Amino acid sequence: MNDSSNPVKRFRIEPQTGAAFTIKQGQKIRIIDVEGEQVADLYCFEKEEIEEKLSSGHTTDYNNKLFLSKGDILYSNRSNPMFTIVADKVGKHIMLYAPCSQVMFEKSYGVTEAHPNCLDNLINGLKSYGVQASQITIPLNIFMNIEIDLEGEIKIKSPMSKAGDYIELRAEMDMIVGVTACSAGSCNNFEWTPIDVEIYSGDAVL
Ligand SMILES: [Zn+2]
Repeated sequence: MNDSSNPVKRFRIEPQTGAAFTIKQGQKIRIIDVEGEQVADLYCFEKEEIEEKLSSGHTTDYNNKLFLSKGDILYSNRSNPMFTIVADKVGKHIMLYAPCSQVMFEKSYGVTEAHPNCLDNLINGLKSYGVQASQITIPLNIFMNIEIDLEGEIKIKSPMSKAGDYIELRAEMDMIVGVTACSAGSCNNFEWTPIDVEIYSGDAVL
């Protein structure tokens, strides 16, 4: 019998990097903001059929909300549950922004040198599973904090997450998962720190 209080796997995503791994239905993943105020992007695919993948549009539709927290379900582009948020120390996450990319840094910030970014970090890990950059759409923007006014204008705020805060997601299918420690500026309060990942056995027979 598995001890569900101890992770079966634990690893650190260093600042401005990413990781990819597989997870089984019923397992839980805990994403930990080690030092606080650090956004993590998460994107996922059905393990055997990568045409089925995380969908911001479906998730917004079925949850009827823009801010995601405990009890909310992340859906695939085929309307199947992929993850359920089962614990959340912060209470506010979004699934609106594309992963930051080299092009985004060039267009939005005038960057001319190579800049670490979530899209490259996601694809670096996911390519070994056969994923191409064009297959990655909108990730779960974990710990990302925005405000939306009545006209729909968005302000990016510093994350509300403090050191050690986490979100826990239960996998509802077998998946390939990519997670990054974001490299963008204002959404991370202009500091780049690590993200820890823990995988728990959950209630499923593995
Ligand atoms: Zn990013």
